[in-house]
Amino acid sequence: MFRMLKDKRALVTGSTSGIGLAVARALAAEGAEVVLNGFGDAGEIAKLCEELGATHHGADLMDASAIAAMMGAIGPVDILVNNAGMQHVAPVEDFPVAKWDAIMALNLSAAFHTTRAAVPGMKAKGWGRIINTASAHSLVASPFKSAYVAAKHGLAGFTKTIALELATSGITANCISPGYVWTPLVENQIPDTMAARGMTREQVMNDILLAKQPTKQFITPEDVAALAVFLCGDAARGITGANYALDGGWTAE
Ligand code: NAD
Repeated sequence: MFRMLKDKRALVTGSTSGIGLAVARALAAEGAEVVLNGFGDAGEIAKLCEELGATHHGADLMDASAIAAMMGAIGPVDILVNNAGMQHVAPVEDFPVAKWDAIMALNLSAAFHTTRAAVPGMKAKGWGRIINTASAHSLVASPFKSAYVAAKHGLAGFTKTIALELATSGITANCISPGYVWTPLVENQIPDTMAARGMTREQVMNDILLAKQPTKQFITPEDVAALAVFLCGDAARGITGANYALDGGWTAE
């Protein structure tokens, strides 16, 4: 059977859950040797490693030195998917400073720290794929998500910059920007959004989340994974510096 990513090594950050896990599964199905990263139950992670023929490195990506240690320990990667992220919902005047710092560290700075470590190995091979999970919030804003929107806009800008720097090196760098994907990250922000807006759970689901998506459907993690696989292929070699909206029409408005 032809497997497009046979002989490729991929690091997918934040891949013990949600979108990252779906991307890791899809890359492994195409033959890539996958390194998982993220938190979770040790037994569950061991099972995932067995299922995918993967290894796992549990570095906390809010810590630059832990990222450097992880990148050194795992060695060169051909595919880097910067996916780990978190959310916090609060009005700006009440936004906890520690949450702002954490979101900047995880959703933005971590991608810089992994990328700067991965690029020399990619350059040496003359081939590489950097895929950053941004968000519709890298393109448009929503109230009460100041840190997340700022970090994701920053990630989109970072991606365009490295795409230009690496354009003649056989390395592409692109963002995938999903709308609302039904994962724990979305589920967990419902209570805070209920509090910030004084709404019921049903109102948050229908009037806030799916109100943004003209299709009235959540995106699936597998939809994101399929686009990531496409961006890893030879057919996508000319695509770099792009920011793919995968948002059911949200940012078309
Ligand atoms: P998730 O909460 O299901 O998964 C997050 C992953 O990141 C987990 O594996 C978790 O263990 C890991 N993680 C969290 N903190 C970490 C840390 N400090 N160090 C290392 N790993 C850490 O979330 P998800 O919905 O799958 O989101 C993945 C990415 O997609 C995020 O960047 C998110 O902003 C983005 N995104 C999600 C949606 C959505 O609707 N779910 C939409 C657009 C963009």
